Amino acid sequence: MHVPELRKDPVVGRWVIISTDRAKRPSDFLHNKVVQKGGFCPFCPGNEAKTPSEVLAYRPNSNGNGQKNGPGWTVRVVPNKFPALGIEGTLNRQAEGMFDKMNGLGAHEVIVETPDHASHLGLLLPKHIESVLWAWRDRIVDLKQDRRFKYIMIFKNHGEAAGATLEHPHAQLIALPIVPKHVIEELDGGRQYFTVKERCIFCDIMRQEMENPMRVVIENDDFLVFAPFAPRFPFETWIMPKRHESAFENLSLHQMINLAAALKQLLMKCEVALDSPAYNLALHTAPLQEAALDYYHWHIEFIPKLTNTAGFEWGSGFYINPTPPEESAKFLREAEVPAGFQYIK
Ligand SMILES: [Zn+2]
Ligand SMILES: [Zn+2]
Ligand SMILES: [Zn+2]
Repeated sequence: MHVPELRKDPVVGRWVIISTDRAKRPSDFLHNKVVQKGGFCPFCPGNEAKTPSEVLAYRPNSNGNGQKNGPGWTVRVVPNKFPALGIEGTLNRQAEGMFDKMNGLGAHEVIVETPDHASHLGLLLPKHIESVLWAWRDRIVDLKQDRRFKYIMIFKNHGEAAGATLEHPHAQLIALPIVPKHVIEELDGGRQYFTVKERCIFCDIMRQEMENPMRVVIENDDFLVFAPFAPRFPFETWIMPKRHESAFENLSLHQMINLAAALKQLLMKCEVALDSPAYNLALHTAPLQEAALDYYHWHIEFIPKLTNTAGFEWGSGFYINPTPPEESAKFLREAEVPAGFQYIK
């Protein structure tokens, strides 16, 4: 008889219930397989005029003759046609009695990852994934100059079940005039730990995970991919640079190559092991306009969409996770991606 276990995330102090008695194997989840439906797509080459004018595009094969908003791009970034926040104006904070409000200032962009509608991020060549990640970096570096923004969140919804409304491979970027709550919690947790121990909590977590690698999925020269000790969701996995760094945009070329490799491997392993799941991923990096932080460490959080959160999670902020991270990590670690699977589909 298994006894459920309560586990606490050391950074944010969030408790989760790992319900080992109803431990779920990957085969119990196979119901959110991503299938493409087709139809008109504004992100496909030839339809560039259907999106707002691009803010960035790589056209490596055009020898500099590529036409802005024309075809020939490999990665293209455009403002979201239906932005959650607007780019115009100055930030205006107001009070309404005890309540605070401000105008909805921000930037909302779409990073189109490939001209190939039927592909997806994990299926792209490693070199191409690198250029997608360079686009993340280039957009952060550019938007960072705008002092109105405090934070840039880059995230990806893959598949309808994960909230994607357009199936063409893409990620989204939102520049915000405030730092999001999840990141504030991580910053606070990191700062508290640093005050006591004078070490980065994320560096310490990785050190311990590498000593006893039961939750490690992938390791290369620059990155550790692992299931956190207290994951909220089955198969939740984090990608973290081994060398301490608080801001994503300071990545070196060497690190970029290894990040693309680690990300590709993780996505391919999930593709095989979890049968093309819908998923979300999000970049957690330091707030803009901050000098390098000793106590914060950027990372990517990846969550395949295998379960739906329900009333208990919503009401309590507690999560029930039916798959222990040691099991999900082992399963992904051992998942073999067949040769040739990468580039065809
Ligand atoms: Zn398309
Ligand atoms: Zn660190
Ligand atoms: Zn995080």
